[in-house]
This record gives sequence, structure tokens and C-alpha cells, in this order.
Amino acid sequence: MSSNLNSHRKHNFSAGPCTLPLSVLEQAQQEFVDYQGTGMSLIEMSHRGKHFDAVANEAMALSMEIFQVPDDFSVLFLQGGAMLQFSMVPMNLLSNGQKGAYVNSGAWADGAITDAKEYGDIYTAWDGAENNYTRMPATAELEMQDNTRYLHITTNETIGGIRFPEWPQVDVPLIGDMSSEYMARPLPWGKFDLVYGGAQKNLGPAGMTVVFIRKSILANTNKNIGRYLRYDIHESNKSMFNTPPVFPIYMFGKVLKWMKKQGGLAAMETLAAEKSAILYHAIDDSDGYYHCPVDVACRSQMNIVFRLPSEQLEQKFLSESAQANFINLKGHRSVGGCRASIYNALPKSSVDALAEFMATFRNDNARDNG
Ligand SMILES: *Cc1c(COP(=O)(O)O)cnc(C)c1O
Repeated sequence: MSSNLNSHRKHNFSAGPCTLPLSVLEQAQQEFVDYQGTGMSLIEMSHRGKHFDAVANEAMALSMEIFQVPDDFSVLFLQGGAMLQFSMVPMNLLSNGQKGAYVNSGAWADGAITDAKEYGDIYTAWDGAENNYTRMPATAELEMQDNTRYLHITTNETIGGIRFPEWPQVDVPLIGDMSSEYMARPLPWGKFDLVYGGAQKNLGPAGMTVVFIRKSILANTNKNIGRYLRYDIHESNKSMFNTPPVFPIYMFGKVLKWMKKQGGLAAMETLAAEKSAILYHAIDDSDGYYHCPVDVACRSQMNIVFRLPSEQLEQKFLSESAQANFINLKGHRSVGGCRASIYNALPKSSVDALAEFMATFRNDNARDNG
């Protein structure tokens, strides 16, 4: 069944939602209508019943285990996307004149800054605009101010295709938007107070945001905001304050089991390094035909951005690759060019096939280079 279905699957390089493990999709299909002989689908059951309770508890425990999260953190399953966290972080964490520091590393960081400014005293500790967001800052470049509560970083910029090669060494806790490299690399948890990300890139279907929060900060979060916006309320209710995103939680649990079977976080990290190296080699070994505009040290292992010699050739590349079943390779509309998003579940075979296609395309079109 797998191989048969597999033959109809595209090489899907979408930036999100994106490829999920085929085995996970097939399992969900098999039990979708009649969950474990209950005569109903899991998504037709009460979120407070024993079946869903078991699913949610397992997903929580597995997420802590696989991501190697210490016991002094809690995991929350929220809605509103990573974007709601742009507001929830400052709403909950900033009080008494404290400031929030932000690294502006590109489109998503800029969004986080824009929203945070509505709720607190926010400043940009480093701005990548002058180099067109092609690299991340070193610690020495960060301009930190007194009375700063946290430094917010976007660990991987999905659109620009850059990531932090090393974590900033600052005196304040880090907050990380990890949406586009969630559970693809280990974190120094001691440096972080909170990490968040939408599920729809590495973790499952859209509709859920996974937040890891240090428990000791919950006593001091702001209580004068709407209840849904309060981390402490979600935490004390084990993410059942209101109806949680039941289907994404169920799928997330299956993705976690798949990750564990592959070898957990270490395997995901190795796979990301290997898959991204295949594409960066295809770019670097092309005599300049393909070109990656970002700083080599900061290259993302999840979103590989590249350009061709001209926009016409990029158009041709995108249309011919699509005909060959490589889809969603168009760069974000704000930056153009091409982008291959190669999240955890995208098979290495798809990456190999793309590298081969890139070499063939170059051979066939290099003389049009002008
Ligand atoms: C996709 C993405 C977001 C937005 O996530 P939503 O779940 O759509 O709100 C935020 N930050 C980063 C880094 C992303 O890649």
C-alpha cells in the first residue's frame, strides 16, 4: 500500500503546511472513521473523555522526551498560530517598565516586533536590514539595554533562509520563535524561558502552536489580560482550558512516534545536516549558475534559498521542475527566487532527486546564461 501510494506523491518543498510522514497519514486514514473500535472518530469525541485524554497526555510526554526538555518546563498546545505568540509573549512577560529586546533577522522577526510594540517597551538589539537579512548577529553585535526582560530571537528565518549557527550569550533569558526548525536541532534549555512555533512545518497539521515555557516564570506573568491569553491558565489546565486543537494534537502524537522511530532529535539533526548539504553542494558546485545569497555560516538547514542567473531562467526552472513533480519551489513573494523547504518529514530521496534535477537543468540551460 505504501509504495503504491508513494508513487503518486509529489516531491513537496512547501514552506508550510508541508510534507508529513506517509506512514503517519496512512495510520490516521486507517483509524479516522472508527477510532480503536469506539464506533466514532477521535475528532467526534469529547476532549475531556478518556480516549482523547490519553492521546494528549502521550503527545505531551513524547514532546518533552524527544525534544529533551527539562522537567522545569511545561508544554502547551495552543491555537492562533505562531503569530498569536508575537502578542502573548510581551502581554504575559513584560511588566513594570521592563523592556523586550528583539533581533530583527527578517520577515518573521519583523512581525514579532510589530506586534510586541502594541504591548510594551520594545527595542531592536540588532537589525539585519543593512545586509538585507542575509546573516544572524554574533553576540558582540547585540546592543542590549538595562531593564531588559528577554531577548527574542527567530532561530530560523523561513523566508530569508538563515539560522543562528550559535546561540546568543546574553544575561537575559531567550525567547525563541522556532517554527521552521522545531525539533530539528537541540536547544540549550538553560538559556531559554520560552520557545514557540506553529506545528505546520515540522510537527503536524496547521491549527496548533506548541509552546515550551519555564514553570518558574508563571507566577510572575501578567494576570490582567483575557484568560485565553494567559500562559499560567493554559499550564494549570494542562492545555484544556478551552477546547484544544484535537486533530492536530492527535497527528502531532503520531509524528512524534515517527520521530522516535527514526532515532529522535539526534537523527532529525543529522538528517537536516545531510539533506541541506546535498542542496548547498548542488548550488556551490554549479560554477555560479545557482547562487545562495546568504552568509555561509548562517545557512538554514530547513529553508534553502537560491537564485538562477536571471528571472527568466528562474521562471523556466520553476515550471519545468513542477512538471517533473517538484512542487512549491518558488521563493516567498517578498524576495523572489527559489526556495526548497526540507523539513523533517521530507524524504532524503526527494532532496537527492531535486539535486539531480538541478544539475540536469543547468546542463540544458547553461548556455542561455548570456
Ligand atoms: C510560519 C512562521 C510563522 C507563522 O506561523 P503561523 O502558525 O502561521 O502563525 C512565524 N514565525 C516563523 C519563523 C514561521 O516560519
